[in-house]
Amino acid sequence: KKQITRLPSWLKTPIPDSNNFKKIKNDLRGLNLHTVCEEARCPNISDCWGGSSKSAATATIMLMGDTCTRGCRFCSVKTSKAPPPLDPHEPENTAEALKRWGLGYVVLTSVDRDDLADGGARHFTETIMKIKQKAPTMLVEALTGDYGGDLTGVEMVARSGLDVYAHNMETTEELTPFVRDRRAKYWQSLKVLEGAKKAKPGLITKTSIMLGLGETEEQLWHVLKELRKVDVDVVTFGQYMRPTKRHMKVEEYVTPEVFEQWRVRALDLGFLYCASGPLVRSSYKAGEAFIENVLK
Ligand code: SF4
Ligand code: SF4
Repeated sequence: KKQITRLPSWLKTPIPDSNNFKKIKNDLRGLNLHTVCEEARCPNISDCWGGSSKSAATATIMLMGDTCTRGCRFCSVKTSKAPPPLDPHEPENTAEALKRWGLGYVVLTSVDRDDLADGGARHFTETIMKIKQKAPTMLVEALTGDYGGDLTGVEMVARSGLDVYAHNMETTEELTPFVRDRRAKYWQSLKVLEGAKKAKPGLITKTSIMLGLGETEEQLWHVLKELRKVDVDVVTFGQYMRPTKRHMKVEEYVTPEVFEQWRVRALDLGFLYCASGPLVRSSYKAGEAFIENVLK
């Protein structure tokens, strides 16, 4: 197989520098929030934090520490069997900081904590409830792990008062064992999404898939159909980017045209909306998308 060394032109992006972004970044100092946007140096930061309006401004916050008990082959997060204990003040402090920030839409995500009896479901739930108490108009999306297949954790989060329940499939059924940690099972992830919907009918469910890992068209069709069977509402597609040489290789840089084809196909299958593009992350302009497609 030929080695891919050069980035295609559509993946070369300027460093974000809009004034709006600078202002928000300054405001954020002192709030002590860990945004994935900054830590991952996400190229979409000015689009998301700026948003088309304040009510659409979106950011992603990482909860439960920076150390994961799993080790997926595409992910650059640190791994340990025994990460430090949870900070019991995190739910309160996160909610207070988000209230002061005045964001429109927040995506809460976390590392996987297989070391905790409930995988951190209670801590996650408490954080959502505090945010909804302190900032009732803020829209909240939770992007959770699979809680080792324990649906009681999923149900607790689904009933916390959040607006969107997200759990990422990441890739196709066939590639799952090569891409994700061995504890992350394809069927288990579908069950998480199904469980969230059943726990709170009408709740918007969402998932994300990386392209460029060697998946075939047929495999992608298959996963999209399975997702619709369990009534998943939103899907996003983005390009897999290799974080370091120790991570999986990129098999293909998928063109913007092919991303657009998958967006149209997803809508044809009945997904409520779909963000799809080389630089798209699951949280890409999520506030704007929610306002335009769900609240309209
Ligand atoms: Fe943050 Fe996600 Fe937007 Fe990137 S795509 S800036 S991580 S909200
Ligand atoms: Fe990264 Fe999530 Fe996998 Fe942990 S479970 S290694 S945070 S992708």
